[in-house]
Amino acid sequence: MTTFPVRGLYVHIPFCRSKCGYCDFVSAAGREDLIDDYIKALSLEAASFRALSGNFSTLYIGGGTPSLLSPAQLEKLFAAITPLTGPVTNLAESTFEANPESLDDRKAALLKSAGISRISLGLQTWQDGLLKKLGRIAMSADFLKAYGALRAAGFANINADLMCGLPGQRMKDLEESLARLLELEPEHVSLYALEVHKGTPFHAAGVKEAPEEAAEMYKTAAAILKSAGLARYEISNFSLSGREAAHNLNYWEQGEYLGLGTAAASHLDGERRANTTDTTVFIEAALAGSAIPQQYRETLKGRAKRAEKIMLGLRKTAGIELHDDIIIEFSIAINRLLAAGLVEMKDRTLSIREDHLYVSNAVFREFV
Ligand code: SF4
Repeated sequence: MTTFPVRGLYVHIPFCRSKCGYCDFVSAAGREDLIDDYIKALSLEAASFRALSGNFSTLYIGGGTPSLLSPAQLEKLFAAITPLTGPVTNLAESTFEANPESLDDRKAALLKSAGISRISLGLQTWQDGLLKKLGRIAMSADFLKAYGALRAAGFANINADLMCGLPGQRMKDLEESLARLLELEPEHVSLYALEVHKGTPFHAAGVKEAPEEAAEMYKTAAAILKSAGLARYEISNFSLSGREAAHNLNYWEQGEYLGLGTAAASHLDGERRANTTDTTVFIEAALAGSAIPQQYRETLKGRAKRAEKIMLGLRKTAGIELHDDIIIEFSIAINRLLAAGLVEMKDRTLSIREDHLYVSNAVFREFV
């Protein structure tokens, strides 16, 4: 069992009020009846890792929609987590994901008093017509209200999620979304191009991706965010200096973390694994005191582990410092990418050129 600092604790809340058209996350709509049992199950799973108590420096409560939990359920959730983390205020960073329709003044105050330091709030786009097409519940006025509640509660570190390449979205819609959002001065913005995955309502409805339009929009958005002081530090993430998401940086630095809950992934003692994606199975196993069924367990070694380190590290605009032996080991891939102008090497730091971050998958393929 790991005894050294693990750094990240991720807790998955797999419930949403309704399913967004593009959603590929593990989350069920309309299953609020399961939440109380789910929190009990989380508490038991957390207790099974009590040997790791005190080893965490960041916490990320994601979903799904964690803000869907009632105040009483949130209290129970924190009671389940804090035996592992200690006081949440003592952590270097603690993030809570929220959607505007389920975040009010009372919950904002509760999260603040629980010690949460960072909120990630879903916006996606400013135009209500597009939000409706996405199947979002919250409209832009709801976002404004929730954002105001967070600032009033004292949150000084807020991320907003935005999307581009949406069906029917024009460049001026994205520009308006950015302008309205930037008026609010968020510390961090995550921007994702629409991907249509099998099994989503969008896929069933035949919605198509628009990669060329999305790439143009992404380029424009990155320039606007940069001029507002939000520097791109990862493929999809922009922040004020010092507001980069520490929990996520740990993922990209191949750090160790523990994931609790349905579908949650862990990286401990060099092993990668992930819990079942079935919330009912997760609850039943945890409440019965059985091992949680896993989607996979694997330990990367040698070249595969080093390739993963490069691929994760290249997600960061700062790139990754490589030792000479790794440069030699991957010299064919690196030279091919350098010749194609997709990456650059300064001293021993390899990074994807900013104008090619959008096609980073072409870079990653070279290391697979
Ligand atoms: S709120 Fe997020 S997790 Fe829930 S359905 Fe929408 S995209 Fe998926």
